[in-house]
Amino acid sequence: MSYPWLTTLWQQWQQLLSQERMHHAMLLVSPAGFGREALVRQLAQTVLCQNGVTESCGLCHSCKLFTAETHPDCHVIRPLEGKSISIDAIRQCNHWAWETSQLGGKRVVVIEQAESMGEAAANALLKTLEEPPANCQFILTTSELDRLLPTINSRCNKWRLQIPSEQDVKRWVESQLMQSIKWEDVRLNGCAPLAVLNFIEQGQNIRHQHLLEGLHQFLTPPHTGLFSVAEACMKDGLLSLRWLSYFLVDCLKVHQGAVNYLIHAESAVLVQQVATQVNQQTLLQQIQALNALIRELESHSGLNHELLMTDWLSGFIPAP
Ligand SMILES: [Zn+2]
Repeated sequence: MSYPWLTTLWQQWQQLLSQERMHHAMLLVSPAGFGREALVRQLAQTVLCQNGVTESCGLCHSCKLFTAETHPDCHVIRPLEGKSISIDAIRQCNHWAWETSQLGGKRVVVIEQAESMGEAAANALLKTLEEPPANCQFILTTSELDRLLPTINSRCNKWRLQIPSEQDVKRWVESQLMQSIKWEDVRLNGCAPLAVLNFIEQGQNIRHQHLLEGLHQFLTPPHTGLFSVAEACMKDGLLSLRWLSYFLVDCLKVHQGAVNYLIHAESAVLVQQVATQVNQQTLLQQIQALNALIRELESHSGLNHELLMTDWLSGFIPAP
């Protein structure tokens, strides 16, 4: 397993495979950014492999088809961006589950982000999970177990990914990049190793820093640079707004004396400076307004992002 934090779980699954005790419906619970897709792929390839039992051989006909992503017995469904998994997609899954394997071995049906199934779709899947067809392995993933229907949840064998420590994540990303990184890079990305890696490789860490510096300048009298902050807020879409939200929550923590754990470990001075410029009540109001704005932008894509940001930023300027 290429990601060290997945090794334990993989070894447990290998044990099930070797004892032929793997449940027909495996459910992996893991937030995004931890490489759960890699783990699912590894299980799928191993189940389909014509030689290996606990490890895929990489050489057989099945493994070659799998690597080329043309395996006729491996089916994956996932929701389209912001959409739910339709009942038609689940009916297709049921069809795959009951048909004969093209290669004569097992069939694998992967349902990613299973929480995106609506009630009708989930109910359509239920019967297949209750009366599992022979030789069919279901693999479901979810980042939010609470949003998955309890009936689906109870028919799967649940596995939770063990979240690595901040230290381990920092060390792993540093070993990949061959450079040292900041604690705040790790914390801003919810300690998800692949998200941290992406954050730095895509230069988001630099844009994040610019955004905070721009905000700091704007919040310091004479409050210049409104439009350049609003523009900086557009560069990474909603992500930029979430960064702002994390930053302002850290400023609020300073007001409340809760400075033991700031997300912005290395930018603590900036947090302190902004906290001195903005009073607690304004901070609270602006955080609430920002979070409402994020929700609004999430559900309506056609809004004028920049105009809304300019509006929101003006909320910091004290009335004359
Ligand atoms: Zn193989």
